Amino acid sequence: MVTGVTGVTGTTLATMSAVLGLLFATGCREEGPSPLAAAEIVADEAPLGVVGELAEAKGSVPSDGGARQVFFGDLHVHSSWSFDAFSAGVDVGPAYAYRYARGESIPHPSGGEIQLLGPPLDFIAVTEHAEYLGLTNAAANPNHPLRAQPLIQAWKGNDPRARRRAWNRIDQSYSDRIALPALVADSVMMPTWRGLIRLANREYRPGSFTTFLGFEYSPNPDGQNLHRNVLFRGDRAPDRPFSSMDSANPEDLWDWMDDARKDFGDVLAIPHNANGSNGLMFAETRHDGTPIDAAWAEQRARNEPVAEAFQIKGQSETHPMLSPDDEWAGFEIFDRRTTRPGLSSQPEGSYIRDALKRGLSIEDRVGHNPYALGMIGSTDGHNASSPFEERNYTGKIGRSDATPEGRLAWIVPANPNLEPFIAAATRWGAAGLAGVWAEENSRESLFDAIRRRETFATSGPRIRVRMFAGWDFEPAEADGEIAQPGFSRGVVMGRVLRRSARPAGSAAESPEAPTFLVAAQRDPLEAELERVQIVKGWHMDGEMHERVFDIACAQDAAPNPKTHRCPERAAEPNLETCKPAEGAGVSEFSVWWRDPEFDPDAAAFYYARVLQIPTCRWSTYDANRLGQPLHTGVPATLQERAVTSPVWLRGVEAERAGPRATRGPTLRSTELPQTN
Ligand SMILES: [Zn+2]
Ligand SMILES: [Zn+2]
Repeated sequence: MVTGVTGVTGTTLATMSAVLGLLFATGCREEGPSPLAAAEIVADEAPLGVVGELAEAKGSVPSDGGARQVFFGDLHVHSSWSFDAFSAGVDVGPAYAYRYARGESIPHPSGGEIQLLGPPLDFIAVTEHAEYLGLTNAAANPNHPLRAQPLIQAWKGNDPRARRRAWNRIDQSYSDRIALPALVADSVMMPTWRGLIRLANREYRPGSFTTFLGFEYSPNPDGQNLHRNVLFRGDRAPDRPFSSMDSANPEDLWDWMDDARKDFGDVLAIPHNANGSNGLMFAETRHDGTPIDAAWAEQRARNEPVAEAFQIKGQSETHPMLSPDDEWAGFEIFDRRTTRPGLSSQPEGSYIRDALKRGLSIEDRVGHNPYALGMIGSTDGHNASSPFEERNYTGKIGRSDATPEGRLAWIVPANPNLEPFIAAATRWGAAGLAGVWAEENSRESLFDAIRRRETFATSGPRIRVRMFAGWDFEPAEADGEIAQPGFSRGVVMGRVLRRSARPAGSAAESPEAPTFLVAAQRDPLEAELERVQIVKGWHMDGEMHERVFDIACAQDAAPNPKTHRCPERAAEPNLETCKPAEGAGVSEFSVWWRDPEFDPDAAAFYYARVLQIPTCRWSTYDANRLGQPLHTGVPATLQERAVTSPVWLRGVEAERAGPRATRGPTLRSTELPQTN
């Protein structure tokens, strides 16, 4: 909405200003994560827990993990059935989101049609906002009982001032997340929710195209983003979704999910835009400020095994202030409160790497890791589309950022106060994508892979990456299919590497360091790869640490053993043609690595990050299309990337304490057939 000012043709400034004001007041922009310890934790130690039982019954970890393949999808798409998308002028419903994901063209708020450049997606979740779900559909039906409400009569009536007043009231209550009761009646919400379920079930093609039932829970206290997408494993769901109008406390969502799981099968929630949460998403305390205890940590980990690292409204992997020694941290930063972009969002508690470190510390304190998070990416597109392709970025929501002019606008002349908001659209990115290693393209297989965190996130390109950790991988094993040694003698990303899994003969507590095998392939339609890194975080004597290691460089160069950096950085692309540098990267990596700084007393996590060579950002493509100078408020280029879920290691002492019911991430034997 807001951003598109210059892009909306034929609209007078006055009208535009009014519309913008309305949208801004609305906050419609809204918008807009377990456990290694934690995660595993979850899966492993859930007391007769739903999760553990379900996973076991399903045999979610087949012995032949090597047969798994990569599937790419978007678990976060909105359409006109989301209140904010509707108010931003989106007029295509959820059916179009499935069409777009399958590679068909669909109408776009710019008036044109949009279509993926790359191949169809393998899976999708349409996740409409639960807040006021069904309202616009009900109000559009002249025979719906909602139309008897005076407020709705005014909104749909002929008096323009009354219409505006009524709309403002509805919109403000949406923005405040305080429901007007009639607008959330069963008769309003349930038909649309049932429609979403029917549609998702109808569009599901087991084996070729997976659709998940889901919705978004979207609390914004003081503009701070606590949003989650809720995904169901099966084909049924409760009568109503749970919204922030029911409760703005995510702990209540987890209670609701724990109940829903008993009747409808497994369900999980994926936090997003932690970057806009002002520290609330991965806080050191419970929602009410009281200390985290084991039960809280366990419930969170059970319900939130992965978190969204990349999406349009900025990345949530890490921030330069949190990771000053990570030269790649300053990537697609959007550190503003999501619905109040005029206000900053503090980095601490707002990024996944920081949360992974906090998780180790909290586990040390209370015995469970609430933040053993796997990595997922998705778009949060609101135009019933998934605009993750840099060359083909078509905006996030509605008319405002539907055109290149709108996306590159600096401010709205009629209302300079909107500048931060306007600039937001320019800083939004064409991202991200979910990568899942699963046996087959089905709800059950993909869902179970997400639950066990056998996932990775990309900033858009279909980079494939897989990581294994073990105690005795040999360098030569990187030359073959790494899944073979990986599954037979190690653990795949998302798991805990246990010391007890060390091969017979090795001293249980010898300091010999863990070894890793990482394989990555470029997206054949995108640029080559520049390097592979391991991001390590560890917790020792109450202190948290992190370090980024380059472990493989393009052109067979070796990282410097002291700085752990590749000798060169790839050259920039040609900014006029956007052609990437020739010969700067490689198509694939397969690499062995041993932690050169291993401390057996420290609890640690490790994840892999793969970087492409530099390419043009969407804003550069847009400026070139318009024949304009490049926008100076954003980088002209970026290094697209993929990050895997971590593998966790517990300290010697913690592990010696054993798999106590309340202690750390131990895996059920059925979860880890590949280790002891
Ligand atoms: Zn959201
Ligand atoms: Zn969303």
